[in-house]
Amino acid sequence: MKNLSHWADIAAKKVTNRSKKKAYTCAAGITPSGTVHIGNFREIITTDIVVKALEKLGKKVKFIYSWDDYDRFRKVPKNVPKELEKYIGLPLSEVPDPFKCHKSYAEHFEKEVENSLKNLEMDIEFIRQNEMHKKCKYSKQIKEVLNKRNKIKNILNKYRKEPFKEYWPLTVYCEKCKKDSTEILNYDKNYEIQYKCECGFSNKIDFRKKGIVKLKWRSDWCARWIYEKVDFEPGGKDHFAAGGSYETGKQIIKEVWNKEAPDYVIYEWISIKGGKEFSSSTGEVTNIDSVLEIYEPEILRWIFAGTRPGAGFSISFDLDVLKLYEDFDYCERIYFNKEKINNKKEESKQKRIYELSNLKIPKKLPEQPSFRHMTVLVQTYEGDIEKAIKGYKSPRVKKRAECAWNWIQKYAPEEMKFKVHKKIPEKIKKSLNEKQIQTLKELINKLKKKSYTQQSLFEEFYKICKKVDIKNTDFFKGAYLALIGKEKGPKLAPFILVLGKNRIIEILKQLS
Ligand SMILES: [Zn+2]
Repeated sequence: MKNLSHWADIAAKKVTNRSKKKAYTCAAGITPSGTVHIGNFREIITTDIVVKALEKLGKKVKFIYSWDDYDRFRKVPKNVPKELEKYIGLPLSEVPDPFKCHKSYAEHFEKEVENSLKNLEMDIEFIRQNEMHKKCKYSKQIKEVLNKRNKIKNILNKYRKEPFKEYWPLTVYCEKCKKDSTEILNYDKNYEIQYKCECGFSNKIDFRKKGIVKLKWRSDWCARWIYEKVDFEPGGKDHFAAGGSYETGKQIIKEVWNKEAPDYVIYEWISIKGGKEFSSSTGEVTNIDSVLEIYEPEILRWIFAGTRPGAGFSISFDLDVLKLYEDFDYCERIYFNKEKINNKKEESKQKRIYELSNLKIPKKLPEQPSFRHMTVLVQTYEGDIEKAIKGYKSPRVKKRAECAWNWIQKYAPEEMKFKVHKKIPEKIKKSLNEKQIQTLKELINKLKKKSYTQQSLFEEFYKICKKVDIKNTDFFKGAYLALIGKEKGPKLAPFILVLGKNRIIEILKQLS
């Protein structure tokens, strides 16, 4: 690889330099404790982009995503019914789905994400940790960890204000009440533990046969690095702080298995601009779908591919959406050599970003109607997407039109919104002065006789204004009032062409 300027290519190279293998495993994961928000998506997409970079190096790569749904249900999020409180302490996979559409609480949120990811061209193997644990898949690693529990305690205590006196890196879910209010009484250094529960139940079990135990997070993470032979896993910056899970994980894996922790990149948090907040402390959550409602899938990928994981940024729902679409289209034109760009390094970087964003790269530059124009089209046809995109061929335009319509309805500022009159209200008719009415009648006559391009129509406006002796601004104001009942609107010439001669005449003739 000549030009290693993209962060994912650099990360991929690091992984392959560290160990020579035929196939690599990249991992990511999350506890499905509630709605997975767009901030959590950064981990998924960061991994996927590195996966694609490894594939470009000719490597076989497996992308595993771990649903940590055998973690305990800690608290009821704000967007979930309070009644679930009684299930606190159960594994997330055993809590019922409050929305009653899935097998469990965990699966409800897992499926939501799995469905959202379908359009993003990722090849992910999802692993449900509750199934792995119930099948006792990690019993060997659990035994290895338990036998080093004092060493692990010492590692953790380096960072703790109140050091552990005794430490069991293990959660046991009671066989009777299913909760984790248990205490370990004895361990035989092999596969047998004895526990008692607050509910009164107690038992001795072999954890090769009863899948009711789970390592605590930090040891659990390491055990799975070992079990899956993970080569790469990104992490949020908190994991890498002193005493964070990665920092301790790399000591635990060394101590217990004498192995190195996987390679990683650290990613920054992202925030939301102009949309709902996605803090999990409020009920409002911006999930992946709410972003895909206004951004084409390639553009969502492009936003992340084009930003170093270490850089924080905001996902915009406000007017910046228009700019992001423009920037993506620009990047796409660079890829298809339709933009002159003097800086060769920048050019190849942009092309690489495009490649990583668009995994079904079209053969030639697709149609690129601007997002702003799409907002005019969809509003002109009041959300009738098929009518709005008549004349366009590529599937991308349909998607773009849907996104534009969603954006107009949910996030656009008032000044971008309009509704075309069927009937001009009397109040508006009365507000127009004679000269304004005269210019609009003049416009009807011209439209009846001639067909126009944007440019020639624009020039015609000025001729009409001159003839009627009206200020241009008064003419535009009159036209917008008559057509949409606002003093301003989308650029008039293209707007009139979008509306079409017949519709314009139908509206404006009401002025006579
Ligand atoms: Zn119990």
